[in-house]
Amino acid sequence: RAKAHGRSCFRYFSDELTRAAEQRLDLEVRLQRALRLNELCLYFQPQIDISSNRIIGAEALVRWQDPAHGLISPAQFIPVAEETGLIKQLGEWVLLEACRQGKEWQQKGLPAINLAVNISPVQFRNSNILESVFNALKQTGYPASLLELELTESALMTHENEAVEILSALRKYGIRLAIDDFGTGYSSLAYLKRFPLDVLKIDKSFVDDIPHKKDDMEIAAAIVAMAHTLRLKVLAEGVETEEQLTFLKEQGCDCYQGYLMSPPVPADQFEQLLRAQAEDSEK
Ligand code: C2E
Ligand code: MG
Ligand code: MG
Ligand code: MG
Repeated sequence: RAKAHGRSCFRYFSDELTRAAEQRLDLEVRLQRALRLNELCLYFQPQIDISSNRIIGAEALVRWQDPAHGLISPAQFIPVAEETGLIKQLGEWVLLEACRQGKEWQQKGLPAINLAVNISPVQFRNSNILESVFNALKQTGYPASLLELELTESALMTHENEAVEILSALRKYGIRLAIDDFGTGYSSLAYLKRFPLDVLKIDKSFVDDIPHKKDDMEIAAAIVAMAHTLRLKVLAEGVETEEQLTFLKEQGCDCYQGYLMSPPVPADQFEQLLRAQAEDSEK
């Protein structure tokens, strides 16, 4: 009996694996098609300066509008793109589209803001990131000084020397560099010091339980202090409540992003947010 049971378990698992592999392949083929048919788009989430309470930037976040399956989250398709190598093409599209949109806003006379673009660790390591970035700026005429790249700790940890060189070249060109999801990786002071960074983004997981978990509050406070010692600007991710914002402000945190201000929104809605702010300050 046990044996029969074991066998059926195995069968069950192997069927499951086959199904997962099929789903993955299906997603890969569909993603390839989506890139070709231009089914991807960017949403923008405002970045707020805490002391002035004004929008000073936006993070560009990719979305996939699939005709059959609706809006698909990047958490679902970025890993597939990374595994299949599609990330190079996808990443180049995101850079180009963010710069194109930024240039359009500039030409419409909207206030200059900083646009932040996520760079996958796989994209950072396996493709010529310098070329992709310079190409996007050249093709669109968007200024390097208004572009920020978000990198994760894992992108920088492997091939450290090479990473320092790439970051230095980007920075020399006027591009700003942020470390994303800080606190979830190695979070080593030594390496933070080695890389020419501008911004440190505190991961949402340390913000979530403010003001209920004392540990997380102390970690968040320590990250702000440490980042300032290294002369980095600090942005807190995933701020959803006034209590969280008040605490972060007390700690001297510079900027935030989160549902408290706005979720990521389509370009036209973000434009309205910028216009409303510009009209507000004219009064
Ligand atoms: P991330 O770069 O850390 O982006 C922040 C994520 O947190 C976004 O999810 C955003 O919608 C979400 N978020 C922001 N504020 C709040 C909040 O107050 N509450 C909650 N619950 N969530 C909040 P999203 O857009 O689903 O993106 C997930 C991840 O996918 C990103 O994490 C990033 O790692 C990756 N990603 C998104 N767009 C791109 C892209 O264009 N290229 C690459 N390589 N990765 C991307
Ligand atoms: Mg990010
Ligand atoms: Mg993040
Ligand atoms: Mg995150």
